[in-house]
Amino acid sequence: MIREQTVKEFDKSITVLTRSNGIVHAYVSNAKNIKNSKSTATGLLTYSQFVFYKNRERYVADEAAAKEVFIGLRSDIKKLALAQYLCELAGAVVQEEEPSEEQLRLVLNSLYVLSKNIKPEPLVKAAFELRMMSLCGFMPNLVCCSGCAIYEHEEMRFIPTDGVLMCPDCAASSKKSGVLTGLGATAAMRHCVYSEFDKLFSFTVSDNAMNAFKKAAEQYVLSCLDRQFTTLEFYKSIS
Ligand SMILES: [Zn+2]
Repeated sequence: MIREQTVKEFDKSITVLTRSNGIVHAYVSNAKNIKNSKSTATGLLTYSQFVFYKNRERYVADEAAAKEVFIGLRSDIKKLALAQYLCELAGAVVQEEEPSEEQLRLVLNSLYVLSKNIKPEPLVKAAFELRMMSLCGFMPNLVCCSGCAIYEHEEMRFIPTDGVLMCPDCAASSKKSGVLTGLGATAAMRHCVYSEFDKLFSFTVSDNAMNAFKKAAEQYVLSCLDRQFTTLEFYKSIS
C-alpha cells in the first residue's frame, strides 16, 4: 500500500504496488470503517493480499487482508517519513500493468531493514534510490569513467544529469562538475546497482563517503525524474 486517500466518508482511493500488475489504482468501499477487515489492510505501508475486480476501467478492491504492517516504522516519525518517500518514489517509477516482482521485493526488503534498524537510514535510502531507478529503466552506467574508461580514481565524480562516472580530467574537459564520489562512494554505488538482490544491503559506507553517496543517489533521482517529492522534502526537514 503506497498511497491512500479518503473519498466521501468511509471509502478510499488507494495505490498499490503489486507483484503481478505493477502500480494499481483502486477504489475501496467502506475501508474507513475500523470494524471492516479492509481497514488495516488498506493502510499505508501495509503488505496485504488483495482481490481486485475491474468495474468498467476502474479496479475495485473486493477483499484485502493484511500480512505485514511494519510496526517498527509506526513509532518513529523519521523512519515513517523516509518509508513514505520510498513509496512515493516507487509510485513515480513503477509502471501500471507490468509485472513488478523485483520492485515489490525491493520495497518490502527496504521497509523491513528500516523497521528493524538493520542499517543506517541514509544507506537504506540511497541503496533503494539507485536500485529502484535501475529496475525501472534508469540504470546509471557506473562501470568506469565515461570518457577514458579508467575504473578507479580517488577523485572520481558521478554526474547525476548524465548518470555516468567521470575522472577529474574528463570531467574538466567536458565542463561537468557532479558529485565527488572518490573510491568509497563510487564502490557503494556500484554495489547498489550491480550486486545480487540478496546482497543489496550487505555493505557498509564509511562516514567520509556517506555524504557523497547520499547526495549522488538523491541527485540522480531528482535529475532523471525532473520533479520534487513532498515526502522527501518532509523527511529532509525533520532529519
Ligand atoms: Zn576519464
